[in-house]
Amino acid sequence: MKIVLLPGDGVGPEVAGVARDVLMTVGEIYGHKFTFEDHLIGGAAIDATGEPLPDATTTACQSANAVFLGAVGGPKWDGQPKRPEQGLLGIRKALGLFANLRPTRVFSCLADSSPLKRDIVDGVDFVMFRELTGGVYFGEKKREGDRASDLCVYSAGEIERIARAAFIAAQARRRKVTSVDKANVMETSRLWRETVNAVAKDFPDVELEHQLVDSMSMNLIRHPRAYDVILTENMFGDILSDEASVLGGSIGLGSSASLGAGGLGLYEPVHGSAPDIAGQDKANPIGSVLSAAMMLRFSLGLGAEAEALDRAVEAALEGGARTADLGGTLGCRAMGDAILKELRRATP
Ligand code: NAD
Repeated sequence: MKIVLLPGDGVGPEVAGVARDVLMTVGEIYGHKFTFEDHLIGGAAIDATGEPLPDATTTACQSANAVFLGAVGGPKWDGQPKRPEQGLLGIRKALGLFANLRPTRVFSCLADSSPLKRDIVDGVDFVMFRELTGGVYFGEKKREGDRASDLCVYSAGEIERIARAAFIAAQARRRKVTSVDKANVMETSRLWRETVNAVAKDFPDVELEHQLVDSMSMNLIRHPRAYDVILTENMFGDILSDEASVLGGSIGLGSSASLGAGGLGLYEPVHGSAPDIAGQDKANPIGSVLSAAMMLRFSLGLGAEAEALDRAVEAALEGGARTADLGGTLGCRAMGDAILKELRRATP
């Protein structure tokens, strides 16, 4: 199984290094052969080749089983004609990624780090499926005099493929999908709701509920434990996933996956390149490790191994391992080592 690593900029190489170590250890323990190929993206690629996404990177990703990305960007490239973020947008497009998955899980031992009260967040465990290719971000944009417009477009096919992915994921979880739209006002949302209802007929074991995005933004902080799989379109998902990301207490814990057809996926922590702590071994690698677990689950078909990695992270946290963002003293490497120790300890 070929895994392409795109370490990128800032703390990207530090957290990607920990992701590589845990994947190699999973391979050793469970007898899988993973091969790793490193490629350039973002600012590091601009410095080396003049391009944020060199052709060699795109080609390598297209022939991989899965791609892991650290982070891109930083003040060094601000104001330059070529931007590191173009690398990220470019690779998402080249790989045809249409679903962005962002899990939110609040570990009980960290519930007091959340800005919300423990009794609201303890036990929260949901995953958001955000559509990535359609909606108002990609519709026709116009400016005529003092008027401007952004067209919001969706096809039933675009809605159906992400709805199916969300229902399949729900079957392996607590079997509930909450579809979020604005069907009382928007025609694209009415098509969204009709299409999701049609897909739901193929999944009679999964409960489906619909929520309007405005009430969802309140309910997500009022009773976040009520959700299992949240399914929504591009802009609503962009906003709601950032709202959800604060529930866990630190941005360093957030993981994500972007999936395309045929199982290929791009896995990355939610945080950016964190230039303020880059090169100091201070970054929390947990978002990256949990993203690696998603890679095992969604692209490599290794669900049991993914579970083991998730459990190792939880065990390390329960044992008191903490990086600075969680009020502790461990560095990025030492936190990775604490997770590896738990992974080995749990090996049958
Ligand atoms: P950021 O996520 O990099 O940092 C925000 C704050 O969170 C900083 O104080 C940082 O130290 C902290 N932080 C981030 N990751 C952490 C971790 N793993 N452990 C502990 N603390 C962590 O966001 P920003 O400062 O707005 O952006 C910095 C650069 O990253 C910018 O150039 C931005 O464009 C880029 N960026 C890239 C991505 C990506 O690669 N997907 C995402 C967001 C931002």
